[in-house]
Amino acid sequence: MSKKTLIIGAGGVGNVVAFKCAMNNNTFGEITLASRTLSKCEAIAKHIKEKVGVKLHTMAVNADLVPELVTLIEKVQADIVINVALPYQDLTIMDACIQTGVNYLDTANYEHPDTAKFEYKDQWGRNALFKGSNIMGLLGSGFDPGVTNVFCAYAQKHYFDEIHSIDILDCNAGDHGYPFATNFNPEINLREVSAKGRYWEDGTWIETEPMAIKQVWDYPEIGPKDSYLLYHEEMESLVKHIKGLKRIRFFMTFGESYLTHMQCLENVGMLGIKEIEHKGIKIIPMEFLATLLPDPASLGPRTKGKTNIGIFAKGIKEGKEKTVYIYQVTDHEKCYAEVLSQGVSYTTGVPAMIGAKLILEGKWQGKGVFNIEEFDPDPFMDELMVQGLPWKIMKLEANENRRVD
Ligand code: NDP
Repeated sequence: MSKKTLIIGAGGVGNVVAFKCAMNNNTFGEITLASRTLSKCEAIAKHIKEKVGVKLHTMAVNADLVPELVTLIEKVQADIVINVALPYQDLTIMDACIQTGVNYLDTANYEHPDTAKFEYKDQWGRNALFKGSNIMGLLGSGFDPGVTNVFCAYAQKHYFDEIHSIDILDCNAGDHGYPFATNFNPEINLREVSAKGRYWEDGTWIETEPMAIKQVWDYPEIGPKDSYLLYHEEMESLVKHIKGLKRIRFFMTFGESYLTHMQCLENVGMLGIKEIEHKGIKIIPMEFLATLLPDPASLGPRTKGKTNIGIFAKGIKEGKEKTVYIYQVTDHEKCYAEVLSQGVSYTTGVPAMIGAKLILEGKWQGKGVFNIEEFDPDPFMDELMVQGLPWKIMKLEANENRRVD
């Protein structure tokens, strides 16, 4: 019987997920795209009809409200809900999936609008309810989290008996021509990069001031780039699931202009997430800033250059020290030509589609809430190769490094 797929969120990532599901509609069947603003869904559906020849249904929904979501899911009779709205909606969408008995997938962990915590506690806390409803919840099926977790699981399965250290390396060398803009939702992006840095070593989390640790890594097809240590949510689940791990860190590249703007905005209080009063009106500085910044979905036609995201892992196999580097390079302009989106939305949306595809095809099965590295990485790695995100692996000398500072 033909499947029914519900995508929630018609932003930059939602656009890519909708395109890619339509391009794989033998798996996804009838596709509905729902979001807060119906016109955004309609615009995406129109482009997909023109470029792919597949018709999508569109609906408006306020995903903060469980009853509205339940009505929508029942109306669509969805087999899976792909949540690519904002992290604030994760719990309401999960709860609606529990009530309706429908599988769930997302790309970012839940966040409360008033506190930036980046933790899985509330979502993992729903494990028993997912089991009770006989459904599967797949968390973090984007690129990072997502593909980076799958790269770790693949390295663990094929190259190591134990992985001792992992550095997740995220480089976006794209240029959109604006002095300052974010490549995905500005609020979520700025919360992430302005937070304290954190990494895990010998069983404990070590906190650093924001951007306090800088290293220069050499990214294939891009070259050496300043890379800053950040906390990133996939580390919380990877420390549980990777055997023998002693240290895990996450580095992201930033250019001088981005950092100068960030510093200045921080200094004047524009990154605040607490309400303030301005001429009798209550505003949240970060939300106001997000309104002023370019919509990430509008960066597509302007962005040139490449992204390179991967994992650099060291460990042992049959008593010998080993090092591998698994990475994926994406060209922003190629993404735009294919699905009218820049590379950051593309590299998030394609893995979301792949995770959903593996669930619908029964290749990944389970009852409860799971992080992506808990499943067999092989079918996901195969899909990446054919769905637009081909990856490469470098087997290095045990003591070889990609750092150049
Ligand atoms: P956008 O801001 O472009 O899009 C979010 C969409 O969600 C908007 O269309 C918005 O609707 C909709 N939305 C927001 N609130 C509601 C609501 N209450 N009800 C219904 N719809 C709502 O964000 P992105 O597409 O850039 O990001 C989407 C998700 O992907 C985020 O969770 C982000 O954290 C995640 N992400 C994950 C990455 C990864 O590698 N794992 C990387 C990049 C992003 P409207 O436009 O009407 O406001």
